[in-house]
Amino acid sequence: MNKPLLSKNIEARSLEFVWHPCTQMKQHETLPLIPIARGEGAWLLGFEGERYLDAIGSWWVNLFGHSNPRINAAVHEQLDKLEHVMLAGFTHEPVVELSERLSSLVSGRLGHCFYGSDGASAIEIALKMSYHYWHNSGHPEKNGFVSLQNGYHGETLGTLSVTDVALFKDTYAPLLRASAHVPTPDWRYAAEGVSPEEHAQQAAAGLEAYLVQHHGETAAFIIEPLVQGAAGMGMYHPRYLKLARDLCNKYGVHLIADEIAVGFGRTGTLFACEQGNITPDFLCLAKGLSGGYLPLAVVMTTDTVYQGFYHDDTTFGFLHSHTHSGNALACRAALATLDIFEQDDIIETNRAKAAYLNHIAKPLAFHRKVRNFRNCGMIWAFEVETGDPAFSGKFFQAALAQGLVLRPLGNTVYFMPPYIISEQELDQLVAGTMRALDAF
Ligand SMILES: *Cc1c(COP(=O)(O)O)cnc(C)c1O
Repeated sequence: MNKPLLSKNIEARSLEFVWHPCTQMKQHETLPLIPIARGEGAWLLGFEGERYLDAIGSWWVNLFGHSNPRINAAVHEQLDKLEHVMLAGFTHEPVVELSERLSSLVSGRLGHCFYGSDGASAIEIALKMSYHYWHNSGHPEKNGFVSLQNGYHGETLGTLSVTDVALFKDTYAPLLRASAHVPTPDWRYAAEGVSPEEHAQQAAAGLEAYLVQHHGETAAFIIEPLVQGAAGMGMYHPRYLKLARDLCNKYGVHLIADEIAVGFGRTGTLFACEQGNITPDFLCLAKGLSGGYLPLAVVMTTDTVYQGFYHDDTTFGFLHSHTHSGNALACRAALATLDIFEQDDIIETNRAKAAYLNHIAKPLAFHRKVRNFRNCGMIWAFEVETGDPAFSGKFFQAALAQGLVLRPLGNTVYFMPPYIISEQELDQLVAGTMRALDAF
């Protein structure tokens, strides 16, 4: 009798009991699930010795590899001291140290840290805080939000209302509060002969046209700085950040920077906002914050916003609560992640890695099926010319056959590798991607 493979057993039980995210479950009648037994550096390992290079950082979260010895050690150590304590009325060392270090990393201008558990909860916090600030300041009419065309900020009801991705949003439209979208600076939408910088300026003019009319009822403008992830890694000129900041100042509207995906070195600087030389009123961080280890999110804000809540009246306070707010294990993982940035001079070493990948990827950039090959820091993306509406799923399979985890957004293939990836692994990534493309 043949014993069923362990991975087959796990796959079957998962399909029976686990409802997987972002998935039409019926597709798994033909599409296998991939059971993962372990993670090691940039690699995910199956139960039967399969090896997959995690080229998308497990949904953009993993920065320093799976089972990173330094983060593991820090979490182990914390585990023996304190796993969690409620943050209302109590505090602990990891959350204090993390908050101090994060504020020093944004030059102390966003000195107040409010914690949530995932990206969407960070965005909910920023939206509520922005409105509540205006409410406390005697402007309850400033309760609207404006965001970018094709923007993505999460999938809870509040965050979906500022998201503009039809696939995730349209079904739930009757449940959502209407919110406005202004033209995207994504240079893929630039008219013929218009440079990315000029396109950013035109998009900013669209923002101004909106704010001129609606600033009186607008609490905040929310953006993904430099790269619109779910839109298909739409990249834009940093000048837009400066123009948006100036317009928000001019019209008295908060600027919320959603750096959930782009924070922590993804765009080549620790935070994307640095490239526009701006400070937002709210900076939302999650994903890479804990090195991708544990669910942790933070919203950082200014003294002005904080003071707007500081009052004898309880209801002036920000009473929002997340049970696991500031979880000690997650904060410890985040501190270990910041240590690695410092000790290994990651921003600098990533620069060399990016240059190396750009060099070896030339044949890919000029592949006959590839359009708009682009790079920003440690993110690469390109569109594949195809008429196949099922491209994404098929390419995922083709890449997997090459030992690569690549999960295209529509016909956009992107790389968001962990920063510990080696030159040899980058070679494998590019060569495997070329073979997957040629397999079509
Ligand atoms: C992933 C993401 C979110 C949502 O984060 P979750 O942890 O999935 O809730 C919000 N905004 C951006 C830009 C993201 O990439």
